[in-house]
Amino acid sequence: MGKKTLQLDDSLYEYLLSVSLRENSVLTELRNETNKMEMRIMQISADQGQFMAMLVKLMGVKKIIEIGTFTGYSALAMALALPEDGELIACDISEQWTNTAKKYWQQAGVENKIKLKLASAEDTMKSLLKNNAEATFDLVFIDADKQNQEMYFEYSLQLLRPGGVILVDNVLWNGSVIDDKDDSGDTNAIRLFNQKIFKDNRVDISMIPVGDGITLARKK
Ligand code: CA
Repeated sequence: MGKKTLQLDDSLYEYLLSVSLRENSVLTELRNETNKMEMRIMQISADQGQFMAMLVKLMGVKKIIEIGTFTGYSALAMALALPEDGELIACDISEQWTNTAKKYWQQAGVENKIKLKLASAEDTMKSLLKNNAEATFDLVFIDADKQNQEMYFEYSLQLLRPGGVILVDNVLWNGSVIDDKDDSGDTNAIRLFNQKIFKDNRVDISMIPVGDGITLARKK
């Protein structure tokens, strides 16, 4: 047994899924439809969705904001875990992608819990803050344009109650964060953001290698 996280090759990952993944059938359908799309890489993995749903239940989450909804898998996974009076605000700018999302939210019977905001997440978060939503959210999921991550994080901290958690997706960026030859804007933005959050004493953090890497940041 090593000190570091066990490496999962394909067959060990298959085993993990075979004894732990309990994917709702609507989630499976949505995943299959999204897998036919060009941008399918943007969909979170099924086990990550289940992990996020677990967090919703463990924390007794009632209010979530999601930055970057895409075709709605993560929102659906979390909404299914929310109580009946729970609410998830889904931010995205693509009508096409979120039309797919809406279809499956309806099919799963959670459309009443999800409020889709087709606008820039910055505008949506600013207007929430203007309307007294400061420190009212339990959970934020940030999974959008990587170069604005820091801005989303700052608004999220304001919207979050103390003890609430921000989940930041793609923090390992398929390993590119340690590839010296990768000097792209997105990769550099993720590197900078990871460094910044590491030193940020306003939050407790844990970076976990689920999916493409997630950082959990708990507001103190
Ligand atoms: Ca992502």
